Amino acid sequence: MLLPNKLPHVGTTIFTVMSKLAADVGALNLAQGFPSFGADPVLLDLVNQAMRANHNQYAPMAGVPMLRDAIAQKTIDCYGVNYDPDTEITVTSGATEALFAAITAVVQTPTSGSAPDEVIVFEPAYDSYVPAVELAGGRPVYISLAPPHYAIDWAEVAAKITDRTRLIVINTPHNPTGRVWTIDDVNELARLADRHNLFVVADEVYEHITFDGRVHHSLMHHPVLRERTFMVGSFGKTFHITGWKIGYCLAPKALTEAFRKIHQFLTFSVSTPMQYALAEYLKDPEPYRSLSAFYERKRDVFLEAIAGSRLVFTPSEGTFFQNVSYAAITPERDAALAVRLTHEIGVASIPVSVFYHQKTDHQILRFCFAKDDDILREAGARLTKWSHDLPS
Ligand code: PMP
Ligand code: GLN
Repeated sequence: MLLPNKLPHVGTTIFTVMSKLAADVGALNLAQGFPSFGADPVLLDLVNQAMRANHNQYAPMAGVPMLRDAIAQKTIDCYGVNYDPDTEITVTSGATEALFAAITAVVQTPTSGSAPDEVIVFEPAYDSYVPAVELAGGRPVYISLAPPHYAIDWAEVAAKITDRTRLIVINTPHNPTGRVWTIDDVNELARLADRHNLFVVADEVYEHITFDGRVHHSLMHHPVLRERTFMVGSFGKTFHITGWKIGYCLAPKALTEAFRKIHQFLTFSVSTPMQYALAEYLKDPEPYRSLSAFYERKRDVFLEAIAGSRLVFTPSEGTFFQNVSYAAITPERDAALAVRLTHEIGVASIPVSVFYHQKTDHQILRFCFAKDDDILREAGARLTKWSHDLPS
C-alpha cells in the first residue's frame, strides 16, 4: 500500500521532543510552554459542580451559550467591540483547532492547472500554521524577522503580496520572540489587507500577557480588520490550564459560518463541564486582568537569575517566553545546544531555529518562565554557572 506523504518536511514537534527529553533525564523543563503551577481552585471546583449538575453530554456545536455570552462580554470589556455570541463566536478545542479550522476555511485547494493560494506567514512562526496551510493546499510565503527586535518591514510584506495571496497569519504577543505588535503594525496590516482584500488569522492566545505597561493591540479593535479577521484565543494560557485545550474563535458572521463548517467535523464540540466552569469563572475579570503583572514578575525573577551570566537578552514584551542569545559563549547550533544543556546542566529550552522554514540559526534559545520561582532561580543559576565555566 502506498501511503501519501502529506507533510514531508514535518517530524514530531519540538515541544514533544524537548519535553520527553527533559522528563527522561530529569531536567528542569523550561522548554514547552505550560505552567508548572496549578490552576485556581475556584475554577477546579466549578468544573466539579458542572459535572455534578449533569453537564456531561455533548455541548452545542458552537459552544455552550453561557460561555459564548461570557466571551462576548469579556471582549466588550477588554476591547470595546461587540461580537454576536450566536453567529460570531465559536468555542474550540484549543487555539490549535481554531487555527486549523480558520486556515482551512480560507485556503482553497488548487484546481488542476491553477496556482495555489498563498498565505503570508511571519517567521519565526508557531509550528502549527504552515502544516495547516499545506494540508489545505496552500503555499506559505515567508517573511523572516531577525533579532533582536524582530521588526516587520512592511514594504517587504507589500512586495510579497501577489494576486494569489488570500490570507496573512499573525501572532501578537508573539511566540517565540516575546515581541508585541505596535499600533503602527496593526495599521499597516489593515492598509494592506484592505487594499488587497485579504483575510487575516490573528493568533492572540497571549492577549492577556504584556509587560512594562504595553497594551495588546487586538486586531478586533480595528474596524477594517474586524471585518476580515479570525481572532483566535485560548483559555489555556490565561487560566493556567493548557491541558484543557479550550480556545475560541471570534469572526464576522460569514467567516464564522465558513469556520463552523470545518469545526463541526474536526471535533464537533468541546468538553461540556469545562465550558460551564469557564463561563462562571469569567464573571470575575480579576484573574485575567492581573495576569500581566503576575508574569512580568516571573520574567523578572528569571532575568535576575541570569543577569550575571554571559547570556544576552532583550526583556520579553509579552507571552511567557524569554529569548536569550548565547552567541558570545559558544558557536554551536541552537538545536544541538538545547539538547546538550538538557543533558549536561539539566535545563531544557527550545531552539528558536525550529520556527524558521530554513532553520535559520541566530543562536537563540527560548525559555518558558511560566514556572515556580524556585525552578526559575535554579535554572538561572545553572545557566549562569555554565556560561562562566566555558572559556571565553
Ligand atoms: N498559538 C500559539 C502562539 C501558542 O503558543 C500556542 C500554544 N502554546 C497555541 C497557539 C496553541 O494553543 P492551544 O494549546 O490552546 O491549542
Ligand atoms: N505553545 C506551546 C509552546 O510554544 C506548546 C504547545 C504544544 O506543545 N503543542 O511551547
